[in-house]
Amino acid sequence: MAGSEDRSFEAMRLAARIAEDFRREIAVAERTPTASYAEVIKALRAPLPETGGDAVEIIENLNRLAREGLRSPSAPRFFGWVMGGSHLTGVAADFLTSAWGQNTGNVQVSPSGSAFEAVVVDWILELLDLPRSASVGVVTGATVANFVGLSAARSSQLAKQGWDVEADGLYGAPPLRVLIGADAHTTVYGALKFLGLGAKRVREIATDDLGRMLPSDFERALGEDDAPAIAIGQCGQINTGASDPFAEIAPMAREAGAWLHVDSAFGLWSRSSPKLKHLAEGLDLADSWAVDGHKWLQTPYDCGFAIVRDVEAHRRAMSFSASYLPVADTSERNPSDYVPELSRRARGFAAWAMIRQLGRDGIARMVESNVDVAQAMATSMAQIDGVELVCPVELNQFMVRIGDTDEVAEGDRLTLATVEQLQRDAMAFAGPAQWRGRWVIRFSVISAATTPEDGDMTVEALRKAWETVRNAN
Ligand SMILES: *Cc1c(COP(=O)(O)O)cnc(C)c1O
Repeated sequence: MAGSEDRSFEAMRLAARIAEDFRREIAVAERTPTASYAEVIKALRAPLPETGGDAVEIIENLNRLAREGLRSPSAPRFFGWVMGGSHLTGVAADFLTSAWGQNTGNVQVSPSGSAFEAVVVDWILELLDLPRSASVGVVTGATVANFVGLSAARSSQLAKQGWDVEADGLYGAPPLRVLIGADAHTTVYGALKFLGLGAKRVREIATDDLGRMLPSDFERALGEDDAPAIAIGQCGQINTGASDPFAEIAPMAREAGAWLHVDSAFGLWSRSSPKLKHLAEGLDLADSWAVDGHKWLQTPYDCGFAIVRDVEAHRRAMSFSASYLPVADTSERNPSDYVPELSRRARGFAAWAMIRQLGRDGIARMVESNVDVAQAMATSMAQIDGVELVCPVELNQFMVRIGDTDEVAEGDRLTLATVEQLQRDAMAFAGPAQWRGRWVIRFSVISAATTPEDGDMTVEALRKAWETVRNAN
């Protein structure tokens, strides 16, 4: 037995070496997967192993079989989707989290896992300047954070009508209305689906060119019906980076007795910067917020925060009890009281490590630098002949369209060909998206690793990709 344990420790050291090699490699070079899903599966498919194996060999094989199909969201010129950089300090803390094997459901099962989370959530409220008395669930990401915030919203709005949704469910419950911006993120509709509120049973609020709710339509919608409402706002639209006009809509929601939930997966981090804070003014008047750790905080996957002003509604919606589960006293915080899971990863260690690594000032400077780089990239790209900036840069997300043609189909074709070429050239990575019925190339600048030079190199990469496409046409 001792022999196989030694092999497992050797495998851990090997894993650390493989991790270091990978991160050194992608720190200087963009790395687009050289194997497709089908190719990885082909190499991987094997009969179910009947007998055990050797730990070192297993990790060697894992590396060999996975390597070619790995993407590199942590590379400095990775601008695809909206993905943070899995900072190495967070990764190191995450190694320990796995090795320590803490099941962080409550304070007795893991005193340290619970305590680190308790400190992290206080720091998060301070960093984002949200009500210090709010409760925070540490979850897998904004998808689940939206679910948690909207669970509390459902609980509170029905409790006000004398209905206990936790006990009695939705059968026969008084109706709730849901108001949502027309450019909301798909995961919010997912949360409505899970909660029995219905992804289609919503009143969509008209939005402007940047995807921001029109306050006049929001006001109209609030007045259309007397049923209690849940309003869902957004801070950081994935295509434009823009935020709803919270200074206008949050007081309206309050006045009407609506619960305002904000999907702010990355945009909420603008509040960490004194320079950018004005972009989300009034957002602190909302009732719940969803934000990711694995986007702008650069924690490894996965990490998100569900923040709720009404602690009782949050706990009512999420907590459960059993004789063998310890009840926290008033000085303690049981992590599982604020999330849907019981057994869970100790995400507080990596989040703590990242906040310690960057500090308040470092987080603000990273966010500001990403926004500056996005602005500079967009400005330079717009100067390339045949490249159009789709809308002004509000934050860190922006879109370009290729081809300089009024013909939609031709513009779509050239845009898609250029983004494919950009990915093939593998100097930088960005992906296609649709906005207002047209294909665009979308850039998301959201990594601590990205420098202004990376921005310049990416502008050149786009110029070259577009030139290749133009010469081939
Ligand atoms: C990323 C994102 C989500 C989903 O978050 P996950 O971390 O993928 O769970 C929701 N809303 C917005 C605006 C996002 O950017």
